[in-house]
Formats: sequence, C-alpha cells, structure tokens
Amino acid sequence: MNENNYWNKLAKTITPYTAGEQPKDGKFIKLNTNENPYPPSPKTLEAIVNAVNDKLRLYPDPACTEFREAAALHYGVKPEQVFAGNGSDEILAFAFGAFFETASAEPVLFPDISYSFYPVYTNLWNIPYKAIPLRDDFSINVNDYKINSGGVIFPNPNAPTGMLLSLDDVLQLAEFLEKQGRVLIVDEAYIAFGGKSIIPYIGKYQNLLAMHTMSKDASLAGLRFGFAIGNENLIEGFCRLRDSFNSYTVDRLALTGAVAALEDSTYYDEINRRVADTRERVTKKLHLLGFAVLPSAANFIFIKAPGISGADFFASLREKGILVRHFNKDRINDFVRVSMGNDEQMDIFLEICRKIIK
Ligand code: PMP
Repeated sequence: MNENNYWNKLAKTITPYTAGEQPKDGKFIKLNTNENPYPPSPKTLEAIVNAVNDKLRLYPDPACTEFREAAALHYGVKPEQVFAGNGSDEILAFAFGAFFETASAEPVLFPDISYSFYPVYTNLWNIPYKAIPLRDDFSINVNDYKINSGGVIFPNPNAPTGMLLSLDDVLQLAEFLEKQGRVLIVDEAYIAFGGKSIIPYIGKYQNLLAMHTMSKDASLAGLRFGFAIGNENLIEGFCRLRDSFNSYTVDRLALTGAVAALEDSTYYDEINRRVADTRERVTKKLHLLGFAVLPSAANFIFIKAPGISGADFFASLREKGILVRHFNKDRINDFVRVSMGNDEQMDIFLEICRKIIK
C-alpha cells in the first residue's frame, strides 16, 4: 500500500519549507541560519531560570498580556496593537491566513528572491501570489508593487540579499495599499542590524503590519518567540486565527524571557552593533579578495566567490567545517548566504575563503 494513502489532498500537494541544517555534533562554525553569535543577556537567562517553578503546572496567559504591555511601553504603542506568537514563522502563517484572500483573482505580491517560506504559506492557504522580480542589482523597486493586488509582503532588509528598502519607499507603498484596502506586511526580522522600523507609523497607516522575531536580535532562536505590531483591528484578526488553532502558542518560559529581553535593550543594542561592525569588516575583506558582496543591513551577507560556483563554494566551506546557506535557485545560484559569527569565527571563515579561491 502507498505510504501516503492516509494523506488528504492538502497534505499531498503542499511543499513544506526546508529549514537550514542544525548539525548535532557542534563541529561546524555555524553560519547558516542567521542566529546571533552572542548569548542572550544575563538578565534574560536569569528571568527564564526563575520562571521554571511551580507555575509550569498552570497554562500560560493566552493573551501574553505581560509582553504586550512591555512592548507597548518599549515601542510607544498600545498593548492592543501587539500580538505575540511562537516565533515569527507562526505569526506569518497566521498573517497569510487572516489578511490575504483564498482563491482570489488578485494575487499577493512578494519579491521573487525573498524569504522562501512565503510561497509555502500561500500554498498552505491556497492564496494566489505573484513573485515580482528584483532589479538586476537585487534591490526592490517599490513601484512594481503599486498595482492591483491582494496585499504585499517582503522582509526589510530583504532575505537572503540583506538589502534594505528606505523607510520612505515602504511608507509610500503603505499609503498606496491603504487606498486599495490591502495590507502591507513588513517582515522586520533583521531590522535591528541597520534599518529603521516602521513601528512608529502603524498609527498612521491602518494597513501596516510590522513582523518581528526575537530569534536574531535578541539571541533567542531556541526560545521561539515573535511578535507583530499593527493597528488593533489587524491584531484582532491574528487572535481570531490563533484561537481557532491553539490558544497557548507562547509558553511561560518564552513569555518571561521575551519580556526580560525587551527590557534589556542596552545589552542587545551593544551585541547587535558588534554584529554590524563585524559585517562591515568582513565585507571589506571579501571585496579585497575579489568577492561580490551585496550591501547588507542584516546580520548576514550574500556573497559570490570569484571563479567558483555557489554550490561548489558551499561544499568546499562545508568540507572545511563552515556551514553557510546555498539556495539552488535562478539568479542566486552563484551566491551563498553567510550569517555573521563572532570576530574569531569570521577570521577563520576569511582564511578558509582565501584558501578556497586561491
Ligand atoms: N522572517 C525572515 C525573513 C526570516 O529569515 C526568518 C528566519 N528564518 C523568520 C521570519 C522566522 O523567524 P522565527 O520563526 O525564528 O521568529
């Protein structure tokens, strides 16, 4: 009997996302999934440890009130404008389900080179989409998105390119889409490493949604915590989806850790500045070695090695103990994405690059 016999049509036809490799043996310098090379702050860790107590017996607060209040204070918004979830991937899944129309004549728009989870969500929810090509220099042309659509989503900075779209361009698009009654989701997973967030403008544009994660800038990829900020009506849309799926998406430890991380921004600003400094230093060195490096505002760089294909470069790095990410896709076949490690790790990376291209 066919082993897929019990799958329904949906389970048979979806194409799941492939996450970056998480090797078990720790022998690699791991630069493949954009984690922060620095640990969470001591205050964050202490808060999580202290949360391991009798209360684990009880369900967590489904509304994540404590975090919403802390985020409201931190970002100058209202608690009702904040939604929390189990990593931003989960919140993105809810966003596609809540704000983009199923089987609509007007497709959702996102860049052709972008976060590869977006087409997976459209597939899951049966939402038509159109991938808009990036310019030849891999930048987003915001005017390409000013057409009839079911809504727009992109990461800013974009992934895997790392390239930033100006705040002006994003807000112009928000204005255009607001007139069309469509939502603009800006996935700001990497905004802390060099961009300006749209959060101060969510009161101005009813259709604007900022998607954030604590996996990158708060060094908490293992905790699974993300949040979205937008007007109250959008947040209510999220709650409707969540409460039709799983009331308790955020556990007590994640909730406590996220609040503590938000309240320790001095620590995180410092480590993220270090990550950005490392990025600039590594970029300069790679240019000297003859690499093409896209201008990045994120905690990773997208690079092309001279005289070697992306797949071969990826394989050579892996063989020498460095894990990066290669996407086997048109236009970016010759690139690999390299997350920023600490300075010591990046010096080893540079040395190995030198040897590979020699
Ligand atoms: N958005 C983008 C653009 C990402 O690269 C990632 C990380 N893979 C996410 C969202 C998801 O982050 P998380 O689920 O860890 O919060």
